[in-house]
Amino acid sequence: MKQEILSILLCPNCRANSLSVKEGISDQIEVRTGKIACGSCRSEYKIEGGIIDFLRNPNEGVLRERRAMDEDDYITDETGNKYRITNQTIEKFKDKFLVFPEGDGSYFFKPGGSFQSTAEASGRFYSAMDGLNLRKGERVLEIGACFSYASFKFAQKGCSVAALDISNYLKVSDLYVKQAYFERLFSDMHRMPFMDNSFDVVFGSAVLHHSKNLKDVFAEIRRVLRPEGRLVLINEAAKGVLEKVHPVYKKMEEKGFGDTAYNILEWIRGARLGGFRRVKAVFTSLADDYIMKYKNRGAKFTFKVRLAYFFMKHRRIENFIMFFLILPRLLFRPKSWKLLAIK
Ligand SMILES: [Zn+2]
Repeated sequence: MKQEILSILLCPNCRANSLSVKEGISDQIEVRTGKIACGSCRSEYKIEGGIIDFLRNPNEGVLRERRAMDEDDYITDETGNKYRITNQTIEKFKDKFLVFPEGDGSYFFKPGGSFQSTAEASGRFYSAMDGLNLRKGERVLEIGACFSYASFKFAQKGCSVAALDISNYLKVSDLYVKQAYFERLFSDMHRMPFMDNSFDVVFGSAVLHHSKNLKDVFAEIRRVLRPEGRLVLINEAAKGVLEKVHPVYKKMEEKGFGDTAYNILEWIRGARLGGFRRVKAVFTSLADDYIMKYKNRGAKFTFKVRLAYFFMKHRRIENFIMFFLILPRLLFRPKSWKLLAIK
């Protein structure tokens, strides 16, 4: 952490804006270890590896999910060895994390590899980032930042970025902050340690479906956004209105993960109930997704691939056809979509 972030931080315990660094050991970049303390209620929060830990008394759901992530063998290498995300793992796979999300074409990003889905969704990320038109100096918050590669990309654009997560996966950020600095915090997204109106943009990828209460989490996001501030959510799980919940959710829940499948109407309603006035769900290009997968998988050049390329070149035709797919996607299988909302 750097001193500058203190100006927008709230003490999670008493909500006062009176936190200061009490003990701190710094390197050339930031305060690496120490404590910040609240001048009002005297609560203290640890800084470790540059990350401020605001998860002092996490609720049972957060604890379960945190544990599930810590115990998950996220990475499998070519020889079948499995790795949890620990400091050693991060160091070992450093080169891979540094080429997120698209990857370097190696085993890990290819079919069956641990980062396959990240690589194949990288087109959606870049297209969402382009759509944001980020300007230098804009204040961006990434919720559920996970490994935090998105925060890294925003920081590289000159934005002032904070990455928030509940899991130790956030420690991967250490690889990124040496190149482009951003703040990292452990915190629950339902109760964030920021003052009102602190951010121009809130971004999230596959994170809000971990919430059991969409209305509350949207209201909290809206609170930390400035008026006219924008929210962009991509890769959120969504089911069709008439679609049954996929059995994978039950399995995830048994493991301790908090994933929920909401349908698009529930997503929109959640954002509106949370106070957002302008809310839009956008079904994104199926052709782009198809081409991304085709390239990554080294699949055969079939008629479908040819068609996807045709649509990519002729967006107006694709948009015309996509219009007729809105209702089926809404009812049966939304596939790739994003949620845009403005405060
Ligand atoms: Zn306090």
